[in-house]
Amino acid sequence: MKSVIFIAPPAAGKGTHSKRLQTLGYEHISTGDMLREEISLGTDLGKEISEIINKGELVSDDLVHSLIKKRLMHIDKPFILDGYPRTIKQAENLNNLFQELNIQDYEVIYLEISLEEAMKRALGRLSCSCGETYNIYNENFKPKKDGICDKCGKALIKRSDDNEESFKVRFETFMNSTKPIKEYYEKKNKLHSIDTMQDDEKITERIKEILND
Ligand code: AMP
Repeated sequence: MKSVIFIAPPAAGKGTHSKRLQTLGYEHISTGDMLREEISLGTDLGKEISEIINKGELVSDDLVHSLIKKRLMHIDKPFILDGYPRTIKQAENLNNLFQELNIQDYEVIYLEISLEEAMKRALGRLSCSCGETYNIYNENFKPKKDGICDKCGKALIKRSDDNEESFKVRFETFMNSTKPIKEYYEKKNKLHSIDTMQDDEKITERIKEILND
């Protein structure tokens, strides 16, 4: 199986599909997770990162590059890159790193979704502190009991930024910043777009087809 760079607007289903790939033996590499890990260590670097993330800005290209490099240098299985690259400079750095490490077997998957549909999904999204996620507008992802986690029985919570106004801003910011990255991978013949207005199982099948090709 090939490795994958996942690019998806908020609420397009990246989390669900990443989880499915992990069950197939993929390693999930999220720059957001790695940065939060550094923050939790309470180092000087962690404090610096925390300030940047809290302002909603991006951390420097050099910093995320060094984190990604450390992870990819020791990897021995296919991986999912989640949240990286986010700028053209990062895409170029990643390309150089892939050459250095002789990583050629990868594809870029873009999950397509309209603002209206993404908004609907985001507004129905609920999560549990144990990590489970639900959606009250999707029969397959509804909790069995309203507002309660199927897995651990705790009360479900709504993300504070899953409200109409801030979701729209997040979605549009993502679309604008992603455009040049999509074009970058399109030129390399690496970009595959999948319409997410279809059954989840079909999307999984299409992802597998792309990664097995
Ligand atoms: P995420 O969990 O992917 O939404 O990332 C959370 C935050 O971490 C982002 O809002 C950025 O501040 C930072 N971050 C994550 N990935 C990157 C990246 N590739 N480049 C720069 N900053 C990033």
